[in-house]
Amino acid sequence: MSTFVKFFAILIFPSIGLTSAPCEDFFTDFTMRVDYFVTGNASQEFYSLDRIYQEGEWSGNRKSLIDSSNLGGHYVRVYDPDTNQLLFSRGYCTMFSEWKTTEEAQSEQMYTMHETVRFPFPRKSVHLDIEARDRKNQFYTVFSMVIDPHSQSINKEKKCENYKSYALRYNGDPARKVDVVILGDGYTKKEMKSFRKSAQKYTKALFEIEPYVSCRECFNIWLVETISRDSGIDLPGEGIWRDTALGTSYYTFGSPRYLLPVDNKAIRDAASVVPYDCIVILTNSARYGGGGIYNWIATCYTGKEEADPAWWSEYVFTHEFGHLFTGLGDEYYTSDVAYSEFYPTDVEPWEPNITALLPQKPLKWQDQIGDTPVPTPWAKAEYDSLDQARRTANDSVRLEIAQKMKEILQNKNLTGVVGCFEGAGYASHGLYRPAIDCRMFSKSLVDFCPVCSRAIKDMIYFYTK
Ligand SMILES: [Zn+2]
Repeated sequence: MSTFVKFFAILIFPSIGLTSAPCEDFFTDFTMRVDYFVTGNASQEFYSLDRIYQEGEWSGNRKSLIDSSNLGGHYVRVYDPDTNQLLFSRGYCTMFSEWKTTEEAQSEQMYTMHETVRFPFPRKSVHLDIEARDRKNQFYTVFSMVIDPHSQSINKEKKCENYKSYALRYNGDPARKVDVVILGDGYTKKEMKSFRKSAQKYTKALFEIEPYVSCRECFNIWLVETISRDSGIDLPGEGIWRDTALGTSYYTFGSPRYLLPVDNKAIRDAASVVPYDCIVILTNSARYGGGGIYNWIATCYTGKEEADPAWWSEYVFTHEFGHLFTGLGDEYYTSDVAYSEFYPTDVEPWEPNITALLPQKPLKWQDQIGDTPVPTPWAKAEYDSLDQARRTANDSVRLEIAQKMKEILQNKNLTGVVGCFEGAGYASHGLYRPAIDCRMFSKSLVDFCPVCSRAIKDMIYFYTK
């Protein structure tokens, strides 16, 4: 093709291969929700369909049907079976994939979890693929089916009457906003006032940190009153069990502070009352804890134990929301976690803020680095030995050590510098984070680092462009 013809073709057909087909050609205004079970252990997994639902208005951006971020341990892809055209895709993570990295999952024992994918409700039959990543982080298909949207087995019940709901902050059409729904767990009917107060408090905390402050009008915040029979949250490690609406529990995978729910169906039913892109669960508990899984849920405790600083839960909320909304990885590496080798150091993690710095792989945040040396020198040996000493120190010495560790992170020469700092993703060696400190690194009210901040802004743009 001559240069002139090529140029002419681009002028006439500027959108070929660049954008997806108009949403209304293939989808109605409603949402299709596909619930399925995954059963398995570390070495094998089986998927089976549970139920398909038609839910309310699709809250996502109709111009952002294809997710090219490559974020998430899983992807859902929806195709036109006649032409194989990709109509919709979205990355997400699951509790099951995390469980697979625990010691418990290494045994022969299989476990079942309930999961959900959502997309705009199709006008005609579509082909659905669910993909997972292999050890090298390449996607492979784990579940496929053709869905006929006219099938009588699709559940169209309306759950609205079961829950009271309202907008806490409304900034406009859900199709052009990030819609966050806040649910409560462990709140009885009498405690709904306290739940509403907490929802206000943590919404305010989110919009006190950049880049959310500058983008606050890009968000709608919804509240759904989920009432529990018992007050408080399960503490299995201490033999304490409560009958709550969403089954949120401490001691997830044996970790006392890891707070995740088990009742995905109840969560999805409650959330479906409003248009939503992200689900946050506030728990009626004073014990430090939280959890966040990309495009599924974030949890946060809402009270405070006597000796704990008041800001801890606000830190947890914004940190966990980073996992949920943007797929940010944990940049810290000195805390005890339930996983073993969560990120193999010979594979580049997909998270936007962690790198294995592998040769021949472009650095994800290269354009933000400038002339900072890679890896970037920092007082890691001193930080690590202080961390070791902290583990066996008594209370007063521990505070002194924590102060010294904080001073290392506040090194003036490194503040605001983007580089590659060794120690990230629960690994002391072989994984790197973009800055000396970040809301995804230390337990503090420090800002998100420039790399995390850009990833959050990119995600906001995906929903609002
Ligand atoms: Zn960061």
